[in-house]
Amino acid sequence: MAQGQMAPGIVAGRLSSDELAANFDDLHPAYAPHEAAVAADRCYFCYDAPCQTACPTEIDIPLFIRQIQTGHPEAAARTILEQNILGGMCARVCPTETLCEEACVREAAEGKPVEIGRLQRYATDTLMARGVHPFTRAASTGKRVAVVGAGPAGLACAHRLAMLGHDVVIHEARPKAGGLNEFGIAAYKATGGFAGAEVDWLLQIGGITVEQGSALGQGLTLDALRADYDAVFLSIGLAGVNALRAAGEDKEGVRDAVDFIAELRQAGDLSALPVGRNVVVIGGGMTAIDAAVQSKLLGAENVTVAYRRSRAEMGASGFEQDLAASKGVRLMFNVMPVAVHGNGAAVEIELEYTTSAGGSVTGTGETIRLAADQVFKAIGQTLQGAPEGLELDGRKIKVDGSGRTSVPGVWAGGDCASGGEDLTVTAVAEGRDAAMDIHAQLSA
Ligand SMILES: Cc1cc2nc3c(=O)[nH]c(=O)nc-3n(C[C@H](O)[C@H](O)[C@H](O)COP(=O)(O)OP(=O)(O)OC[C@H]3O[C@@H](n4cnc5c(N)ncnc54)[C@H](O)[C@@H]3O)c2cc1C
Ligand code: SF4
Repeated sequence: MAQGQMAPGIVAGRLSSDELAANFDDLHPAYAPHEAAVAADRCYFCYDAPCQTACPTEIDIPLFIRQIQTGHPEAAARTILEQNILGGMCARVCPTETLCEEACVREAAEGKPVEIGRLQRYATDTLMARGVHPFTRAASTGKRVAVVGAGPAGLACAHRLAMLGHDVVIHEARPKAGGLNEFGIAAYKATGGFAGAEVDWLLQIGGITVEQGSALGQGLTLDALRADYDAVFLSIGLAGVNALRAAGEDKEGVRDAVDFIAELRQAGDLSALPVGRNVVVIGGGMTAIDAAVQSKLLGAENVTVAYRRSRAEMGASGFEQDLAASKGVRLMFNVMPVAVHGNGAAVEIELEYTTSAGGSVTGTGETIRLAADQVFKAIGQTLQGAPEGLELDGRKIKVDGSGRTSVPGVWAGGDCASGGEDLTVTAVAEGRDAAMDIHAQLSA
């Protein structure tokens, strides 16, 4: 029996199983073949296509859309996967509205781009549904490479190296591979266990061993990896979370948004997952929006995203902001947390209004209090557990354009490495490109 949205505190079962199933259904349902054909027909197959330039993995978008249009979705999938082996996940999670679809000439002309993301999903889903893997390994080179972290960057690097004939061991701290594809992406973007299925499909290439529960820094050292392998690729993501720095941050009910999302992604039964009646999420990026939307979908009565800068400065895209608003999430801009109030457990949050300009944020002194039995911190992740001796660039591992770190024989890519946006597709591109550089060096 569902408890309802009005039940006080942080409780499970606010909605019925049927309501939860409907709420967490696929955000962008897959195209039927005739829908894909109609969507593909809208493409002009531009020369020097701006959509391709805007894609961090530089997929030949006009070519794959032409292949769909001419009735060859599996050939289209191959075109995609040659550049981006996680093309299936990227089709689901890429912020296409700020990448390929924003650049599409139809967007500029008509305000309605070719739906590249959904077409990509149609192609990759068609191929993957057959269970076939389109690539084979080159003859063995006898070289061994260690990859640390089985997220998108690590998986893309490992796959490319395996294809080129190297043997790869992925050391992964968690009990499951996939990184944030498995533990972070919003549940309604990767439904039906897609993240795990994609990892299994990717590993069909052969030559990749995943050692789960094997964490760098916990018995495993960079020096030992360098001694045991011909090259090392670090793709450990950003495991740390920034502190709120507001009084009362330690009260019950205040927690990291990424932990909540990971719990949600791994929950076998969403009706058993507790959520507050009044939820406030602090932050302005994709994680903040995902935590807020999923809280609302779990049945929280009031959900607010509190962001310290203006709407224009928000990291979450216009699409993500609209999605949150359409689900009933309130977006508050130019407010920052100063205190969480309550006797042991959070009851209210106090926010101070701000002005933001030229990168700086200043409190105005005026405050507002919101009911808040659950507060999620989504103010950015940080590098944690990077091995000693690696030069940093700001708060990330310093790499050059090929992913080389300051230590010979060690590459890095994805969120843990300097440069590039923190996106799944960027991590894939960096993993793939580092693999090509590792291969060049091992073949020299
Ligand atoms: C909540 C959330 C939602 C997001 N939504 C989107 C989205 O919709 N679209 C999008 O494009 N991007 C999204 N992102 C960003 C995207 O998920 C990341 O940019 C991407 O996953 C980075 O890939 P990665 O391989 O660098 O790191 P990760 O995916 O973080 O993978 C790192 C892996 O390394 C492992 N690891 C860490 N430390 C160690 C260690 N010491 N030893 C061994 N293994 C270790 C981790 O367990 C993990 O498996 C989201 C991020 C978050 C947090
Ligand atoms: S920019 Fe748009 S119309 Fe042109 S090739 Fe890309 S998807 Fe097709």
